[in-house]
Amino acid sequence: MTCAETRRQLPEPDPASLGQVEQHLLTCPPCRVEQQALREVDRRIEQLGQHRLQLASQVLQVSRTPSPLPLLPRSKTSPLLRLTGLALVGAGLLFLVLLAFFRVR
Ligand SMILES: [Zn+2]
Repeated sequence: MTCAETRRQLPEPDPASLGQVEQHLLTCPPCRVEQQALREVDRRIEQLGQHRLQLASQVLQVSRTPSPLPLLPRSKTSPLLRLTGLALVGAGLLFLVLLAFFRVR
């Protein structure tokens, strides 16, 4: 097996060519160094993934704690219903403003 063929199989060779790759690595220090470097890259990517997962779980934990503001409780009404209520309140306010405007005139 050549260096190029071996390196295409690194860092974790296919089971079918594992024996040939191991044989080559025994006799070729540069390919062994390449394998170690690639395993180090794998290890660091895994660490990064774990770090990201930890951050994500912290964010989830914070978002699951109840709101400390009593005026803004977690509502079980649907977003559409809330939006409709908000629109009605807005229309009512607009009506009052217009009413006041035309009364002044
Ligand atoms: Zn080699």
